[in-house]
Amino acid sequence: MSSNHSDGHPFYRFCRTALADIRTQGRYRQFTPLAREADRYPVYEQEEAPATPATPACDHDREVVVWSANDYLGMGVEPVVMNAAIAAIREHGAGAGGTRNIAGTSPLHTALERELADLHGKEGGLLFVSGYVSNQASLQTILTSMPGWICFSDRLNHASMIAGIKGARGSTTVIFEHNDLADLEAKLAAAPADAPKLIAFESVYSMDGDISDIAATCALARKYNAMTYLDEVHAVGLYGAQGGGISERDGVADQVDIIEGTLAKGFGVHGGYVTASSEIIEYLRLAASGFIFTTALPPAVVAAALTSVRQVRKDGWRRDRMFERVNAFRARLRKAGVPFTMTPSHIVPIPVGDAQRCRELSDRLLNEYGLYATPINYPTVPRGTERLRLTPGPFHTDAMMDQMVAALSTLMGIRTTAPAAVGEKVAEPAR
Ligand code: PMP
Repeated sequence: MSSNHSDGHPFYRFCRTALADIRTQGRYRQFTPLAREADRYPVYEQEEAPATPATPACDHDREVVVWSANDYLGMGVEPVVMNAAIAAIREHGAGAGGTRNIAGTSPLHTALERELADLHGKEGGLLFVSGYVSNQASLQTILTSMPGWICFSDRLNHASMIAGIKGARGSTTVIFEHNDLADLEAKLAAAPADAPKLIAFESVYSMDGDISDIAATCALARKYNAMTYLDEVHAVGLYGAQGGGISERDGVADQVDIIEGTLAKGFGVHGGYVTASSEIIEYLRLAASGFIFTTALPPAVVAAALTSVRQVRKDGWRRDRMFERVNAFRARLRKAGVPFTMTPSHIVPIPVGDAQRCRELSDRLLNEYGLYATPINYPTVPRGTERLRLTPGPFHTDAMMDQMVAALSTLMGIRTTAPAAVGEKVAEPAR
């Protein structure tokens, strides 16, 4: 377990000194877990997709097939995950009973933190009540810890990262163009050499489905003595041999200082976390307001998440099947001449380019076909780039895909069967 800056970056020294001071003052907090073992939430041995895949369907008045869920692997409806939550409710009750430091920590919480640290090859992990809070609280706490921080933030970073960065009064923010390493380097080079620096970026950007170059970003971080903070929210569970995200897939997790993720998307449950070296995790645990002053995640949520993470790490077939489904869906779209944007990730954007048409398309898919695909409009994406954002998962059957492609084809008035990925010849939708 290593990180690229354990000696060089001043924040590591800052954390060690701050922790020593807290101990000297007698303010060091030790979790006192309230209940018993976490190991009773087993993983199961299934190596294959179930014969009848569970579909995370949302029931309006009738059964609909969801195409926009971020529960990418359908873990939220896995019986083993749901049963873990039910068992934990029976055992621990419905609520956590307090903040993490005051009566809210169960052995489930600490077991999940260890599991997540292990997943990312880091020394420690810290749970937050959501991915949003993990970004907001961690970034704000880090960037207010020492004077003079400069945060280099990708232009398309998520609102939760922006909230943390903006909330860090006294620090400076430098926005670099999205995934533009030349721009990042120019901005790093222009900054004062001795200022503490942090590069904040994501791996999979969820709206366009593009992926950052983590290795190259970390190389720049080393060159300019910056720390790296990586949001893997749309990648954890899905990429890498054990679902550790793009940093695991690319073999560079050890080069990233802080890896942040959610338990609400690939893992299908709820909650957020960061993983990092032990001094950074300890510092956040003792200093991050968004960790300290809020009631802990309920044990049932933590038990479900722990079960899901353990299961997803083991079940490579879920990832394989998701990518097989994504490719099968793209092949069908291409064959039918339905336009889509080719991405290097699991996300399949269907460009529409107009808010009104996007809303109408989404409404008609739901009302006429029972297909749930939310319109993505401004301000989530820039005006003129409105789209449907489809996320095929292991649970989407051939028949479901055929139905979606036929519906899109009809509703978009596709007449030809030309190749349709963006960059290729695209069939004109009827107006
Ligand atoms: N980061 C990114 C990139 C996200 O897209 C989201 C949620 N959409 C979050 C963080 C917040 O995660 P959560 O939903 O767990 O609060």
